[in-house]
Amino acid sequence: MSAQLHGFTPSAFPRLKRCLGALVLPTVDEELPQMTRGTEGHSYLQRIANGATPSESLAKVEDEWREDCAAVELGALPPLASGLAEVGFLLDVDAGAARVLGANQTREGVKAAARDGETRMLVDWLAQDGTGGVVLDWKFSRSEQIAPAARNLQIRTYAATALLAYQWEVVRYGLIRVDGDRPRWDMAEMDWLEAQDVLSEVRELRTAGLVAVEAYAKDGTLPPLRLGPWCDWCPAARQCPARVRGVLAVLDGSAGRAVAGMREMSPEEAGELYSRLVSARDAVDTMLGDLKALAKQVPLPLPSGKVLAETEKSEASPDPERVVGVLTRLYGEDAARHALIQPTPKTSWAHLKAWGEAYLLAERQRASAGTVAVELRKMLESAGAVKRSTYLAVAEVSPESPRLTGALAPELPEEN
Ligand code: SF4
Repeated sequence: MSAQLHGFTPSAFPRLKRCLGALVLPTVDEELPQMTRGTEGHSYLQRIANGATPSESLAKVEDEWREDCAAVELGALPPLASGLAEVGFLLDVDAGAARVLGANQTREGVKAAARDGETRMLVDWLAQDGTGGVVLDWKFSRSEQIAPAARNLQIRTYAATALLAYQWEVVRYGLIRVDGDRPRWDMAEMDWLEAQDVLSEVRELRTAGLVAVEAYAKDGTLPPLRLGPWCDWCPAARQCPARVRGVLAVLDGSAGRAVAGMREMSPEEAGELYSRLVSARDAVDTMLGDLKALAKQVPLPLPSGKVLAETEKSEASPDPERVVGVLTRLYGEDAARHALIQPTPKTSWAHLKAWGEAYLLAERQRASAGTVAVELRKMLESAGAVKRSTYLAVAEVSPESPRLTGALAPELPEEN
């Protein structure tokens, strides 16, 4: 069968082996927050493989992830410049043939080059090694769900495809977990015969995918939807009926009843229920986030009579410099210094409460820690060491609340 299967790429294989739903359901091509760290990390290593120095490459990493990238011990990786990064391949699994597109490819570029029936992929790093080669995949995710290399169909497909395309005798392949400071290697080896087994496995998965797509196109029949931790990375998760059913089961209490009857369950059933509940919890968080985004545009009336809407909130926070100034005058420099959270010049009410317990409680014989914290706050406020700021947040408020932002405030009737 030679046809294009949207979403049939090796990075999706571990999930597709468990559930083919994403091949037929509507998908959202979005970068999930848990993916950004990996995207930045991959680009960081790619630039070094292309000749940039680590500090040149680091300067291009987004602020949020720079520290994580800087912590990667490059000496524990292969010499990156001796190989190629982001190598594009196209695999025609039915014909048992592979094409190599070259280094520094993008997902879009590989997709555009794919012919009907070809499976596209981007390999993080590879190098020639005598009559064989080495193929590596960086794993920046902290997920515990990643199968070991020898059983991971994603990296095994990369290895088999590279072996086929370059006509290597043998390929060493592996996952490099870059989720802590020191990269951890998980390596295995594949020869020509084993590569044929991998191709058979991919062929079977592809055939199952094509059958699922055909059945859905014919009369809307869905393949079995299996909820599990793999749903976190599924591009169909937002519209997956199984996830929605899982959420509704929680809302109407049927999952609660199932938990109550847990003693009747086998360990396998309890494990299945646990996975469903975790998956439903993630789906609930996603839906709540979507509804809050909607409430920014239109206030949502709630059964309680309140509305969920964007409102203006104000916050009083201690001004670190002024706090230190006031406390230095009253209690001396040494005590005041400890009112700051070290090493950065910042403080918080919780930190000042602990400071009050340490420095003031002893001198107020009968006072409680709570009273001391309240007194300290009042004193700092009257001394002008507290700053007030306003910000917008989505919250449940009365429809008449004066804190509703302009666009959402109720309109006053016109005067005659
Ligand atoms: S969210 Fe989970 S159950 Fe639904 S299609 Fe994706 S992998 Fe399957």
